Amino acid sequence: MSGRLLIFGIDGGTFNVLEPMWAEGRLPHLARLRSEGASGVLHTVCPPLTAPAWATFQTGLQPGRHGVFDFLAPPRRGYARRLQNASALSAPRLFDTLSAAGRTVGALNVPLTFPPRPVNGFVVPGMLTPTFADKHLYPSSLGAELRALGGYYVDMNPLYFEEGRDEGFVEELYRVAEARKRAALHLWRSHQPDLFAVVFTGVDRLMHFFWDRPELVRDHYAWLDATLGEFLASAEEEGATVFVLSDHGFGPAEAEIDLAEHLRRHGFLTQKAKRGPSPRRFLEAVAKLDLFDLRKRLPRRWRAAARGQVMERLSVFASVDWQRTSIFPGTATQYGVYLNVAGREPEGIVSRADYEKVRDDFIASLDELYPGLTARALRREEVYHGPFLDDAPDVYLPLWEDGVRLREFSDDPAVAPRRRRPGEHRREGIFFARGPRVAAGAAPEQATLADVYPTATYLMGEALPTGLDGRLLTEIVAPEALAKAPPTYRDYDVGGAGYADGEDADVRARLEGMGYLG
Ligand SMILES: [Zn+2]
Repeated sequence: MSGRLLIFGIDGGTFNVLEPMWAEGRLPHLARLRSEGASGVLHTVCPPLTAPAWATFQTGLQPGRHGVFDFLAPPRRGYARRLQNASALSAPRLFDTLSAAGRTVGALNVPLTFPPRPVNGFVVPGMLTPTFADKHLYPSSLGAELRALGGYYVDMNPLYFEEGRDEGFVEELYRVAEARKRAALHLWRSHQPDLFAVVFTGVDRLMHFFWDRPELVRDHYAWLDATLGEFLASAEEEGATVFVLSDHGFGPAEAEIDLAEHLRRHGFLTQKAKRGPSPRRFLEAVAKLDLFDLRKRLPRRWRAAARGQVMERLSVFASVDWQRTSIFPGTATQYGVYLNVAGREPEGIVSRADYEKVRDDFIASLDELYPGLTARALRREEVYHGPFLDDAPDVYLPLWEDGVRLREFSDDPAVAPRRRRPGEHRREGIFFARGPRVAAGAAPEQATLADVYPTATYLMGEALPTGLDGRLLTEIVAPEALAKAPPTYRDYDVGGAGYADGEDADVRARLEGMGYLG
């Protein structure tokens, strides 16, 4: 047994922003990590999306084997698509196996850790958590501790994601980030877990909405670098290992494609005339009620309406005529389509016998949708394998490679576009490692997010779990350390949990308000 590990997560961290900042000397701590440790590109999952990415980070498995392909569950479990959460991860996670090995662990704001599973340590869950509340923490006693530090926020308030609130947006972003930093430093110093993972989400939010204002983005990277510096001082003293990593990269989004319009034009998708309120408007209204804490004062009947089955009826997919729809889009950030398969989707019409033909017809139709782009459509089995493959979109359109994003699916052309998003995710994320067993100046080779789990486990001196998709990044380990302690393997075994009744609707309203579920 040896050493502590700090994992400093930067949601959306990219060399596209870091590179120009090295030259200006604005990132002294990351620059030191680079010169004294290993650094390079960390490739994420397909599509480059937060929920499946952190699921891969936690399990060391690709999505075909951990089962999370999006923020939302697959449409075969209902076209309205419920939210995913950590209960979808049945595989043992990094936190579980280290706990089983008798090590202490702590996680702060790691996405997809709600509901928290008991570990040998603590979990303050991140994105996809209903609210900051004692009952959502493990152990729940941590709530009082965090409140004593001046509060803690799971994420920014969605109100600031509306058009015309730039000033409030940036203020809110720093309020959330400062609170998370206070919590992180406190938990790292006073609880001293062997593994501590914290994720900062500010640059992801900024790069989505302010990619075209690089100074705002760079200022926050500089803030992160200074925050990292506060951790490095104590990590160095103890000989702890430090990872800095991102769940995906980032780049400009210069064009937008309306995939639903393409599907309609080619007869794959049929939508009925619009009736009733726009689901997005409704969900945004719910998020706003939440903001002013008004929902509690609503009549019980209305409160119920903000939850559960109403979501189903209000789903944008309520407008789809399933008897005349063979293909429909996934969420915009999922960059894919689902076939409406008989026996799989609730009202599926494509027989298994016709499946390949329908899929081929769709792929052939894409030449017209985006002539001149380099991205090639991928059948899901070209991307993933495993027991959850049937939950993946049937075809992926890797348009991010060309800086193209997909327009949100809507049943109402009158709904104004959301706030403009000039930045979108990329597959090339960042990775830095420094520590007593890390080779200075080394670079990971074709490293993926799945490799973090085994590499972290090895550098902490524990046996690697068997059967992971990720590999130990031996090229970043000092050769003498590797020779002295070759990797050993072990079988670990653990369980899972889910959202309590109604909590998923709350989270959904909040994410809708931020424009993350379109
Ligand atoms: Zn992310």
